[in-house]
Amino acid sequence: MSARRKLVVGNWKMHGSRAGNAELLRGILAAGPCAAELAVCAPFPYLADVATALAGSALAWGAQDCSAHEQGAYTGEVSAAMLAELGCRFVIVGHSERRALHRESDLLVAEKAAAALAHRLVPIVCVGETLLQREHAQTEVVVQRQLGAVLALLGERAREIVVAYEPVWAIGTGRTASPEQAQAVHAVLRAQLAAATGQGASMRILYGGSVKPDNAATLFAQPDIDGGLIGGAALKAADFVAIGRACP
Ligand code: PEP
Repeated sequence: MSARRKLVVGNWKMHGSRAGNAELLRGILAAGPCAAELAVCAPFPYLADVATALAGSALAWGAQDCSAHEQGAYTGEVSAAMLAELGCRFVIVGHSERRALHRESDLLVAEKAAAALAHRLVPIVCVGETLLQREHAQTEVVVQRQLGAVLALLGERAREIVVAYEPVWAIGTGRTASPEQAQAVHAVLRAQLAAATGQGASMRILYGGSVKPDNAATLFAQPDIDGGLIGGAALKAADFVAIGRACP
């Protein structure tokens, strides 16, 4: 039995409305406590509402990105300090949609993780290969390169991060990595974390990519899978709660 508490994080992406979010959060809270730690990562404009709705609850919350910069002339960016002031606990960095659509480099993702840690936020660092990279047997090289950039910049501070393995080909496609495929990559990532921090055994590595209530339990039963980063299924309270409850 692992000492790591399972963590299930909803990534709402660019979805929602004030009324819809309130209903979603009510639905999740109404389901009551869960053995796993649950969190939701909302779009920036809704974070203050989320903070109010979740005050005093066990449901944690966070953002989906932060700036690598402390402050200054960076129009449109949101700093880690601002998120921390609001009460955020988590921030996703390096999601594949940002790497692909906003050309975020491994170094920039590492700098964002560093900015988050400097303000006591927990960065959820996403790594993952494309289908082409997997087909060319590049999966390990790619995820180790992506995580390696973060470890190189953070050093021992990396002990505080959460890693999310999200194969790009599984995100939003309905095509999930098999538990064996996911476990194999998680084991590689854990070994890399252990070598860099000396504390790989206590760090959490989430799986993300078309996790649903009917496939969550087998994924989360793998020895190195410590929960999930959930996109589409996090938008329905019943599905999100069912995924949280699928944690052994
Ligand atoms: C994600 O966007 O992080 C994700 C895992 O999405 P989905 O669950 O919809 O595949």
